[in-house]
Amino acid sequence: MRSSARLLLLILLPILIVIVPLLVGGGIAQHVLRQQMVDYQGRQDLDLSSLSEAARVVQAFGNLHERATRVLNDATAGELSSLQLYRAHTALVDELAELQGAVNQLAASPLLTEINHGSAEVLHEAFSQYRSFIIVATEIAVIDQSTAMRNLSEANERFILFSRANQRISERLANRVGERSRDSFSRIDVFMQTAAWLALGVLLFLSALALWSARWLNRNLMVVTQALVDMASAHHQGDTNRIQQVQVISEDTRHAFQPIAGALMQLRQADAKRRVAEQNAYRLAYFDSLTGLPNWARLTGMLEEQLRLQTATGQCALLILDLDNFKDINDSYGHQKGDLLLVEVASRLKTIANSHQIARLGGDEFAILMVPETAQDRIDEPTVERLAMAIRQALSEPYLIEGDRFFLSASIGIVLADGSEHEVEALFKYADSAMNRAKRLGRNAHCFFDPKVQSELEAISQLERDMRQALETEAFSLHYQVQVDDQQGAIGVEALLRWQHAEQGMMSPATFIPLAEETGLIVPLGYWVLREACQQLAQWQSNPETRSLTMAVNVSPQQFLNDEFCDRIAAILKKTGANPALLKLELTESTLLTGVEETIGKMHALRALGLTFSLDDFGTGYSSLQYLKRLPISQLKIDQSFVCDLHRNPEDKAIVRTIIAMSEALQVQVIAEGVESQSQFDFLLSEGCYAFQGYYFARPVPAESLAVLLKRNDNRNDG
Ligand code: C2E
Ligand code: MG
Ligand code: MG
Repeated sequence: MRSSARLLLLILLPILIVIVPLLVGGGIAQHVLRQQMVDYQGRQDLDLSSLSEAARVVQAFGNLHERATRVLNDATAGELSSLQLYRAHTALVDELAELQGAVNQLAASPLLTEINHGSAEVLHEAFSQYRSFIIVATEIAVIDQSTAMRNLSEANERFILFSRANQRISERLANRVGERSRDSFSRIDVFMQTAAWLALGVLLFLSALALWSARWLNRNLMVVTQALVDMASAHHQGDTNRIQQVQVISEDTRHAFQPIAGALMQLRQADAKRRVAEQNAYRLAYFDSLTGLPNWARLTGMLEEQLRLQTATGQCALLILDLDNFKDINDSYGHQKGDLLLVEVASRLKTIANSHQIARLGGDEFAILMVPETAQDRIDEPTVERLAMAIRQALSEPYLIEGDRFFLSASIGIVLADGSEHEVEALFKYADSAMNRAKRLGRNAHCFFDPKVQSELEAISQLERDMRQALETEAFSLHYQVQVDDQQGAIGVEALLRWQHAEQGMMSPATFIPLAEETGLIVPLGYWVLREACQQLAQWQSNPETRSLTMAVNVSPQQFLNDEFCDRIAAILKKTGANPALLKLELTESTLLTGVEETIGKMHALRALGLTFSLDDFGTGYSSLQYLKRLPISQLKIDQSFVCDLHRNPEDKAIVRTIIAMSEALQVQVIAEGVESQSQFDFLLSEGCYAFQGYYFARPVPAESLAVLLKRNDNRNDG
């Protein structure tokens, strides 16, 4: 039988085992009862017909006796002729013969035999004798009346005997009918009682059977259902005993629940696999595979949760820790050793900060989330500082990895979430910026997040964004400051960058050039300046007043070191058509000090294009004469810091004198910048400086204003 049919049968079994036997039993009982009733009815009918037969015989006998008596009385009284008597005799003989048959039949009836054997014989005997006496009496009544009367009297006695016997028989028959009726009813009664008891017994038995079957069904259903419930519950592992039961059922092919149990076990296995896969996915998503520590995503979740509970638990702290110079170890010893070191770092962190949440954010960056364990716990600055110190101390102990000794230090940034609405992202950003500050302070340090520093940093990063945009929208421009000779005649200009900031107005390069250098934006910006200056230089070629002006352009170290620098300059010169001989690149001493040989090579290559070099801010750096001698420089530019105090500072005077002497020794020109007064001009002139730049002559101005300025100067000189 198929399992589904078996299961259906099992479910219907409690109903079937009660109802079907009851229906069958009821049918049998009804049949038996009906049979008994039919049987009883048959007997009753038989008894009644026997009774009525007896009555009919008696009645017929009585009638016959009356007629015989009358015939004989009439014959003896002479009222009948011989013929009439003969005829009456013949009729009586026939009737007697007929009645004899009926009496015989009655006497022989089994009912009569059953009641009383003797009575039947008496009936038979009495009637036979009566018949004989009557026949004789009617035969001789004509000739012998007294014998006839005697025979009649004999016959009369027999008639009385017959009647009495018949009466007794009738009484007995009537009793018998009653008895039979009672017997039948008592038998039906017994049957009914027996059937009732039997039905009760069977019902009890069947009910017990149904109960057992229902309980069996229920137990199995419960096992399967509970196993399903266990599976549905995400965290419940399930009762092993129950699982074993389901396992046993699933292996029993004849069991009605086998398909369900089998499917359940398969589901369970699939569910177990799914759980394992889920756990693995969770582990991959939220834990670092190298150290086993929670990762950034998990820490973020924990921090979010903590911030949600913040008001109840007090403040928490986030520490971001970055190993110093770890990249060098990775590069020198390989990633395998680097990994082992990271594992060791993680283990030391676990030892030191075991009551806090530690995470690896990636690479050599770790984080520690300090949360109060109880409402009384305080996560304040001293507590966090103690932990930071302990961590730095623990991490600074030497590491022995596969026979190599390593030393590490860490920079730690700390932010305290004090209950004001901090966002997770912001906290990470603050801790990160504090960590960067610790790095800038020289590494192996820890710094708390300072909102003031942060706002400065934010302002800087805003400026950076603005600068990038300004580069795209060409919000930069160049101003030109005139350089003059000893006659104060214009000999050249210095191109100075200006930025018209949308909110902050005209900005000095001193504000944004350092940031441009820090962010690398100085490279594209520098090329823009060069292009603009060269275009201007080319334009000036057509004007006699500006045709001979040199153009000094400031070049930052980063730009100069750019690999494409020479090619780009050549391209710009070519594109703009500017005269390279009029282009002067202003370099600082720091530019020249990085990679001396490469710098010299590059300078020679550029000189070959036709342009010249001026050493800007000269005197503030550390270049030696020996070194300067090798550089293809055509001009030294005395830094304005020595010029501005010339009239009152003898040291500055000495320095300026030395620089001028140096330029003579090196056979290069010299120019003084920041000349603001006649006395400064006079002093410089007296010392042998013949080129000047400063407010005393002109301020930096846009190109349009420069033409006016030059014209005015010419007029003054002419005048
Ligand atoms: P620098 O190259 O030494 O330029 C001279 C600076 O001194 C200019 O300031 C100029 O306006 C200022 N100056 C000129 N005469 C006087 C004076 O008599 N008195 C005083 N107090 N100052 C005077 P500026 O334009 O603010 O530029 C500052 C610095 O920014 C420049 O110093 C230069 O290092 C840098 N810079 C300017 N433009 C560029 C550029 O296009 N590229 C690069 N890389 N740096 C630039
Ligand atoms: Mg300059
Ligand atoms: Mg300068």
